[in-house]
Amino acid sequence: MSKIEKQGKGKALEATQGLKNIMGRHILAIEQAFRDGNPTAWATSGTPVELLYAMDVQPMLPENSATMSAAQKLSKGFIELAEEEGFSYDLCSYFKTNVGAVLSDADMIEGGTRKPTFMLSSDVICDTHVDWFQTQAERMNVPHYTIDVPHIVSNTNQKQYNYYKKYVQEQLWEFLEFVEDITSHEIDMEKSKKVAKNSYVLGKLWQDIFELRKHEPSPLSTRDTFGGLFPLFTMPGLKAPIRLYKRMYREAQERIENGIGALENEKYRLMFEGIPFWHALKYFSTLETYGANIVYETYTYAFSKYMNPKVTKEMVLNKPIEAMSELMLSFWYIYDLDTRIKKFKETVDEWKIDGVVLHNNLSCRPNSCGMYDLKRHLQEDYDIPCLIITADMNDPRKFNEVQITNQIESFIEILERKKAH
Ligand code: SF4
Repeated sequence: MSKIEKQGKGKALEATQGLKNIMGRHILAIEQAFRDGNPTAWATSGTPVELLYAMDVQPMLPENSATMSAAQKLSKGFIELAEEEGFSYDLCSYFKTNVGAVLSDADMIEGGTRKPTFMLSSDVICDTHVDWFQTQAERMNVPHYTIDVPHIVSNTNQKQYNYYKKYVQEQLWEFLEFVEDITSHEIDMEKSKKVAKNSYVLGKLWQDIFELRKHEPSPLSTRDTFGGLFPLFTMPGLKAPIRLYKRMYREAQERIENGIGALENEKYRLMFEGIPFWHALKYFSTLETYGANIVYETYTYAFSKYMNPKVTKEMVLNKPIEAMSELMLSFWYIYDLDTRIKKFKETVDEWKIDGVVLHNNLSCRPNSCGMYDLKRHLQEDYDIPCLIITADMNDPRKFNEVQITNQIESFIEILERKKAH
């Protein structure tokens, strides 16, 4: 491996520094809601957080908080605390981080989450979300609403699809009544239009930023996108993150115009599948020192939400509930294997990707399911080098440092050999 030349780490956009302020604002807004006695809600990713904003309910996303715990090396302690309470070693580590953080009465800055007025979950991404909130709702004695979303598979026909869409829409309308009953806040259609518009603009800007990553060298790296994704979860519908994304876009464009890449010398362009290991982000820097830049992450892209061409801006503004039901039924993470292979192949071609790194996440069955089949197809059918790393996004105990370093080095050698031919 010593033969392979190393370089410095990548450089984040200056605009990305603004992320800290934006997330700080989110925490301040939560504190303000508690001070003013306004309603608050926990929400899982994949739920229509926009409806909360439209009804003047302050959202809190425990998954986002869990990543903050991991980044500060606090998640392990919280996870172990949850295990002492009887939660299994194999359960999702976001769930256990949240249980431990609540038990410890952790500060929000450490990934703590305050007791909400109610909780909103959905099985659109995973059934763990529902079990997690059901458990915590019982333990904390707060109401919980969950949205059940059927999964579309390769043989789902139009009749079934229409039925599913109606089923999701009915639940969304019912959810509005649920919020009204608890908070006495009614849906304000004018406000909901503004929120929907801001959410749409935010998602589209994120997609535009991803378009710029097609450029060689890519002006961005994971330093911008892993953190940059959080406003999509926590603040869809607000103006502040739109301004941040616009700044990121402009700066990335300037880099392109001046021939500047996020890496000094971008030799390999990679795709990353799965949730990053938040407790060990330095491994992404290791890749960068070999000139390997991750130019596309399915995870961060998925949360731009507005990918379904049926969901137009007009639909989002005029029929927000219908638009949300369409989006929930077409979320990236619920694609079946055939569609996933096809999407990966298209992405590899469009973003000119040399190899794919897949995170076999021990916490996350929905994301890791089918990963070995996906790898096999990408390698055998399309000759795309793939590396599977087995780890966990929040639990450092499931991260074998030596093994992963060796795997990364071997993968770089494969990429180098392939380039040389
Ligand atoms: S990490 Fe996976 S299992 Fe855990 S909440 Fe997220 S999607 Fe669900």
